[in-house]
Amino acid sequence: MEQTEIVIIGAGVWGSATAAQLARRGHDVLALDRWTPPHSNGSHSGRTRLARQSMHEGSGYVPLSERTFQLWAELEAEYGVEILRREGALIIDRPDGPLYAASRESLDLGGWDYEMWTPQQTTAAHPALHVADDEIVIYEPGARLLLVEPALHALHQDARRHGVRFALGERALSWEFDGDGVVVRTDARTIRADRLLITAGVYGPDLIGLDLPLQVERQILVTWEAGPELTGAPLLYWGDAELGPTSGAYGCPEPGGHYKFAIHHEGTVGHPDELDKTVRDVDLKAMRDVLARRLPGLTRTHLEAKTCMYTNTPDEGWVFDRHPGGDQVVYATGDSGRSFRYAPAIGECLADLVEGEARVDLDFLRPARFQQSPAV
Ligand SMILES: Cc1cc2nc3c(=O)[nH]c(=O)nc-3n(C[C@H](O)[C@H](O)[C@H](O)COP(=O)(O)OP(=O)(O)OC[C@H]3O[C@@H](n4cnc5c(N)ncnc54)[C@H](O)[C@@H]3O)c2cc1C
Repeated sequence: MEQTEIVIIGAGVWGSATAAQLARRGHDVLALDRWTPPHSNGSHSGRTRLARQSMHEGSGYVPLSERTFQLWAELEAEYGVEILRREGALIIDRPDGPLYAASRESLDLGGWDYEMWTPQQTTAAHPALHVADDEIVIYEPGARLLLVEPALHALHQDARRHGVRFALGERALSWEFDGDGVVVRTDARTIRADRLLITAGVYGPDLIGLDLPLQVERQILVTWEAGPELTGAPLLYWGDAELGPTSGAYGCPEPGGHYKFAIHHEGTVGHPDELDKTVRDVDLKAMRDVLARRLPGLTRTHLEAKTCMYTNTPDEGWVFDRHPGGDQVVYATGDSGRSFRYAPAIGECLADLVEGEARVDLDFLRPARFQQSPAV
């Protein structure tokens, strides 16, 4: 049986950032992935992500947001690669909408620049957008467009440079406690490790093996042909009560002068192996309906459409903890569709948990928050 110090199951965005961080701290790390990232079988498919400084998961995320932008910038400088492109974002919602209140609060808490725009100011600056008279707009100038492939490649490059061994195309089948360590069985071998980290994205719920309130949701990413009317259009995040209370629409410029526009939530929920990986006409129709309301000038000719999946929690916050069966196993799940941008900061937090001492308070991420308080 092979022996190693730390095994990581899942070398996607979170796993590779943590692998790099642990290796930088001198640990011996073996990172397994059943596919070769970047791929379209999990949560990181597509070319771009929105990287806002604002958030709506709660105040505990504010320091992590600040840290993650610093760490991405360091990675860009170290590897001479562009990962974040400054574009600015418009966050649009009704004044009583959850997106507006939480985004503004987080910007205030983080001390980040923003401006409040009226619908008229917004459409004067960006005539392609249709903003209703009863909506309110936050302009966040520091928001960035995150480029998925360069980001993942830089995380993997950084990890390798600090000694991480990747086993890509190797699937972890099961694991069990073994004294003060753990035994991991893959489709190629059996490994004994001192510690295990599970960052398996949408397959995390299967591997963690605990009764956690997680749901995997199918999503569609669509790149639309964009004419000159969208030149200079920023990132968009739109609360949309017509879709659902926590649903919305989002968009961003894509390489090649195109524009991504998609719906947040409203997808089918199920096991990742059973969710449909084909984009259907009905999926595109739902998006065209939202586009007609929000970006009526867009040609509505789609160039590329892909599926992707979220792992949702009831409060849209992450779940990070040590396994109740033993501290040698740490797991991280519940990305809730918004957590690519946090990956480098997540890497630091998870490395702390694996080492056994959290430098920032991560208690707000523990699953205990989902337990009902006993009735008084
Ligand atoms: C449509 C869509 C839009 C999004 N938009 C944004 C956005 O604008 N901004 C933002 O910040 N975030 C966004 N996100 C969320 C972001 O992409 C995810 O939060 C992030 O990718 C989560 O990373 P992860 O490492 O948890 O998962 P992944 O990157 O999927 O990595 C998990 C890895 O585990 C591996 N794995 C699984 N099972 C096994 C096994 N048994 N053995 C070995 N390996 C295994 C998989 O192959 C995979 O590579 C979006 C997500 C989607 C789906």
